[in-house]
Amino acid sequence: MGIIKEIHNLYLKKEITVREVIEKYLKNIENWEPHVHAFLTVNLDYIEREIKRVEGLKFNEDLTLYGIPVAIKDNILTEGLLTTCASKILANFIPPYDAEVIRRLKEKGAIIIGKTNLDEFAMGSSTENSAFGPTKNPWDLERVPGGSSGGSAVAIATGESPLALGSDTGGSIRQPASFTGVIGLKPTYGLVSRYGLVAFASSLDQIGPFARKVEDLAIILQVIAGYDPKDSTSLPYSPPNYLDSLGKSVKGWKIGIPKEMWERGVEDSVLEVLDSALKVLRDLGVELIEISLPTVEYALPTYYLIATSEASSNLARYDGIHYGYRNKNQKDLISLYKVSRGEGFGSEVKRRIILGTYALSAGYYDAYYLKATKVRTLIRQDFESAFRKVDLIISPTSPVLPFRLGERIEDPLKMYLIDILTIPVNLAGIPAISVPAGFKDNLPIGLQFMGPFFSEDKLLQISYAFQKLMDFSEKYPNTVEGL
Ligand code: GLN
Repeated sequence: MGIIKEIHNLYLKKEITVREVIEKYLKNIENWEPHVHAFLTVNLDYIEREIKRVEGLKFNEDLTLYGIPVAIKDNILTEGLLTTCASKILANFIPPYDAEVIRRLKEKGAIIIGKTNLDEFAMGSSTENSAFGPTKNPWDLERVPGGSSGGSAVAIATGESPLALGSDTGGSIRQPASFTGVIGLKPTYGLVSRYGLVAFASSLDQIGPFARKVEDLAIILQVIAGYDPKDSTSLPYSPPNYLDSLGKSVKGWKIGIPKEMWERGVEDSVLEVLDSALKVLRDLGVELIEISLPTVEYALPTYYLIATSEASSNLARYDGIHYGYRNKNQKDLISLYKVSRGEGFGSEVKRRIILGTYALSAGYYDAYYLKATKVRTLIRQDFESAFRKVDLIISPTSPVLPFRLGERIEDPLKMYLIDILTIPVNLAGIPAISVPAGFKDNLPIGLQFMGPFFSEDKLLQISYAFQKLMDFSEKYPNTVEGL
């Protein structure tokens, strides 16, 4: 049974109140936060108002998230609740409205328990780029939890929250899910409204959920998925009932193993653990077929041209006038821009703005940005032709185990390479999920399932079948004594 159902049963039997559930999670937060720093904001006044609001609703079947806490990545706008993007430039930003996903969660009775840590503006793979200090991996406090949605992933891994939202531009939901032993889904581009998500790279960004159990992930996805006229990239599509696909057989499904994503650069320990995951898939009656995705080799440079170009444009608004921190001692406009941005942004964000501005500048646009958009089309076509032969594709989520804090932060290229297996999915716009598939030396390893556009139901179906045979959802980290 999923955690949502478990809590709802207790509500129905009147064995526990909404306040008691929230207090239990707040206690977990109090215990874990000094060790992991998953949250940037937990505002007790805000939570008190939300408890009262939900207590005023009458619990019924339609309120699928009634009295359930959800942790939110701090680049998703929450009305009246600090939203910093882990950047000094937005250190005091209190949004005047809710993102569409937040509106939908609240409408279904959810309670936003806090805002989680991330790499500044979601740029990074370790949560070390947060201006407010890194998040630690609860399985080994000297290691990173992945990123950029590291805080949301850790909140699930520790049990500080049963559900969380993150954003995934190049792997930022799936990679931290893999590093912390939880499930993370990046939906099809256009399935979940990005209205109120602070933009990093608009043609790639998607909001998606984290959970410990597939049932819970299906329920929260149902709430946030579906057309929103306020987001011009939202697609007019009515999602199926995701819970309906759980429990159905996956026998006879064909799953592609792209040799390019298993051969080069994947650590032996990852391959070793995933070998038993492949056996589980065979036990489920799935046929594993070797395939080739020849263009994924170009995904990394393509991504770093497109993502940085879009970032340089999106981040222009933080000029100390429209938005963001302002250095008040400047005498003219240009120095106000320069000094405010210079002091407000961290070094990775500056690096991306410079790279993106260069790729978009006259004389280089055709050679870099335009070319990258063409390669992107080839990558998408590669996936499309693969999906004519197979139902789904699998790969390791990350080529490496969770690494030590500080180990890669000095070398951007080394950090960028971490996302080599998640980035192709964003460029193609397709959905993918990372599911815990085993442990090596008590460090979690995730398996990534990728599917065609709008195959979230299938991804949930296979993940559910897989989790039935390989279930780590009851396994919690015990690095902190007494917890
Ligand atoms: N690590 C990748 C980057 O730094 C992806 C980040 C993300 O998905 N938000 O761009």
